[in-house]
Amino acid sequence: MTSREPLSTEPYKGVRDFYPADWAKMQYVFDTVRTLLRRNGFEEYQASPLERAELYESKTSEEIVNGQTYTFTDRGDRRVTLRPEMTPTLARMIANKRHELVFPMRWFSIGNRFRYERPQRGRLREFYQVDVDIVGIEDGKAEGEAIMRAHQILSAFGAKNEDFEIRINSRVLINTACHELGLSEEETLAYIALVDRKEKMDTKAFEAERSAFRRNGADPLELVEANAVPAIAEERAKVDALIAALAERGMRNAIFSPTLMRGFLYYTGTVFEVFDTNPENSRALFGGGRYDGLVSLFGGEPVPAVGFAFGDVTLLDFLETHGLLPAHLTGAPDLFIGIPDASDSQGIHAAYDFADTLRARGVNVLMNLSGKHLGDQVKEAVRRTIPYFLAYGAQEAESGTVTLKVLNESREEMLATGDVAAFITGTK
Ligand code: AMP
Repeated sequence: MTSREPLSTEPYKGVRDFYPADWAKMQYVFDTVRTLLRRNGFEEYQASPLERAELYESKTSEEIVNGQTYTFTDRGDRRVTLRPEMTPTLARMIANKRHELVFPMRWFSIGNRFRYERPQRGRLREFYQVDVDIVGIEDGKAEGEAIMRAHQILSAFGAKNEDFEIRINSRVLINTACHELGLSEEETLAYIALVDRKEKMDTKAFEAERSAFRRNGADPLELVEANAVPAIAEERAKVDALIAALAERGMRNAIFSPTLMRGFLYYTGTVFEVFDTNPENSRALFGGGRYDGLVSLFGGEPVPAVGFAFGDVTLLDFLETHGLLPAHLTGAPDLFIGIPDASDSQGIHAAYDFADTLRARGVNVLMNLSGKHLGDQVKEAVRRTIPYFLAYGAQEAESGTVTLKVLNESREEMLATGDVAAFITGTK
């Protein structure tokens, strides 16, 4: 480097640094989701974010492949892409071990994804997603299970039915309508892409482009809405049955949404999205659908699959706008143990032992390592946003009692040493 300009401390455009308090929020979200999914029989998997570029070139979304992937050539001349989404990786992993895996599979994964998007509210270049997939079930039980988990995840954070809406559609409807009107496969994909962009376009421009797809005076969406073609009515009945089954289980916020397409090319049946009902945060929180053809791209028989994904950015926005994030997610330890006398090695030894007994009982303990006065150790604990402080030396070891400071309430509790762990963990 020739320039003497200091290096920038800013992260790369569109990505984030997570300082401990930021990461504590993410961990709270991931831990809540992980616990819930594991309790429902789901298993967690993981893979590298580096994939062969060709994995995305045949079957993901054109918008993503052409405009949004981070693709480079490595030193061995291989074209590599940082994964923009997880579903192709999952399909590859299933195809690779299809004879060993036990179907149906219920799998999930939590990790970062990379898309070269214009950074804006809710959209970044690196974000985290939770992917949830049910693989090996051909009928609507898979959709029911997936949507139930999506609903349950939001409920686990305290969201109510009126806070979000589950929009459901099936690609079969629009595919059948396009076929019925004689549109080619290419035209069908173009029509789907147009309807997918509908919300982002002004009505006039949308209607103008849409008119190119009219055949004999009819438009594919109108044909879906008319519900008169038998194959359309049959599929529509399946969507309605799914919505009715969800309502029966208390999920009354699911609705039929004929214009919902989803951008990915690999969807073959049901598609769904979860929307925040708050107009300030009107974005898709979750998106998913059925992709029965993806695994067979790697050869062999098709494997039916339904999955959905949701991102950390939109979910945290949702939790924040609805006041559903706990207040004290700081990532700080629970307790600061202060040392009253830095020269009393016996007392310090006893403090270390006491700290270990608390840790063994689930308390996150930070021990003072400095020679500061006790008062300054208390101040340090406050700056670190640690909720509890106690001093431990020869006197506490001998008496078997400590004075526990509850720092954010400026009060103290006299406790027997044996009661400290239960007191602290009871408030966590
Ligand atoms: P998709 O994989 O495009 O269907 O998106 C599924 C979910 O991932 C969305 O509903 C968002 O929550 C999230 N997501 C997608 N792209 C981004 C992005 N660029 N930045 C942040 N979150 C994203």
